[in-house]
Amino acid sequence: MKRILVTGGAGFVGSHLCQRLLNDGNEVISLDNYFTGQKRNIVHLMNNPYFEVVRHDVTKPFFIEVDEIYNLACPASPIHYQYNPIKTVKTSVMGAINMLGLAKRIKAKILQASTSEVYGDPEVHPQVESYWGHVNPIGIRSCYDEGKRVAETLFMNYYHQNNVKIKIIRIFNTYGPHMHPHDGRVVSNFIIQALKDENITVYGDGQQTRSFQFVDDLIVAMLGMMATGDEFIGPVNTGNPDEFTILELARKVIDLTGSKSKIIYKPLPQDDPTQRKPDITLAKEKLNWKPKIKLEVGLKKTIIYFEKLLKEDNTI
Ligand code: NAD
Ligand code: UDP
Repeated sequence: MKRILVTGGAGFVGSHLCQRLLNDGNEVISLDNYFTGQKRNIVHLMNNPYFEVVRHDVTKPFFIEVDEIYNLACPASPIHYQYNPIKTVKTSVMGAINMLGLAKRIKAKILQASTSEVYGDPEVHPQVESYWGHVNPIGIRSCYDEGKRVAETLFMNYYHQNNVKIKIIRIFNTYGPHMHPHDGRVVSNFIIQALKDENITVYGDGQQTRSFQFVDDLIVAMLGMMATGDEFIGPVNTGNPDEFTILELARKVIDLTGSKSKIIYKPLPQDDPTQRKPDITLAKEKLNWKPKIKLEVGLKKTIIYFEKLLKEDNTI
């Protein structure tokens, strides 16, 4: 049994990770400030004596004895990370410093949840880990993109300077149950709009692409990465290379929900990447991993989750 700290443990991805780590027989501590996390994501774990919950902000130092740290604390959806951009940078950068300092002190292995956003609006397609990216450093997405890039820099620096055992994964668009209903991300927005027979809001002409990974596939990749030998540190892409336009996604959601919703078009947000698709050759080679869940299957599971949520909570 390992003792494992998950920062951002009450968030969408973090809550699935806590669940899986507990299922595998570990002791798990979730650290979260509940900015975008929700207690309802972890309430079903609260009775487990091997699960502990700490309310804390990663921008402040935190001391604990653990074997492994998964550093996920950071708002991930554009509306949430743009709400207080200075805080977003602090969370990524000071959070990384605090968690790396902890890992150094207690000799824990530490995994950083980085992002495909480090590639910005990519000119290389699909994106390989060796691509340095195309990020606007002063745009509205930069608090997140550059914050995550600095966090990767810090991870590399602690590795080279202090021999901290690091792992970096670059996560591409992920969806599934426990997404925040108001986080404005495309999958949750479209599903909720479809279930309520409201207009589906496609930004721009809907020809921009994304590659959607179901959360269960991501969790397998995260555990696989943490289990690799100390010599492999990444960064490694984790995502589903099946690429769809946003318009295709909208049509699929309408189809799967049998909704009466109509598609409407709204302005494209500034610096919205035009294309995104991971090259997962490295993950296949090093983690023996590839995503298994097709978009339709994952969407159906996510639709079931939101149907139940809408019945339970009439404020959504
Ligand atoms: P989320 O917003 O659901 O989860 C983030 C969690 O971090 C929340 O529980 C939030 O309350 C917590 N948090 C935020 N600031 C904090 C702080 N200062 N101190 C402590 N806790 C704090 O987002 P998610 O989709 O679960 O993303 C988890 C991680 O994965 C993030 O680091 C994100 O950047 C990364 N990621 C996610 C995706 C995706 O598509 N979901 C893609 C790329 C990278
Ligand atoms: N998007 C959209 N309608 C929505 C929400 C998002 O058309 O209601 C688009 C958005 O402009 C982007 C894509 O869907 O091109 C993915 O957006 P999301 O915020 O989910 O993630 P990210 O832009 O960070 O990949």
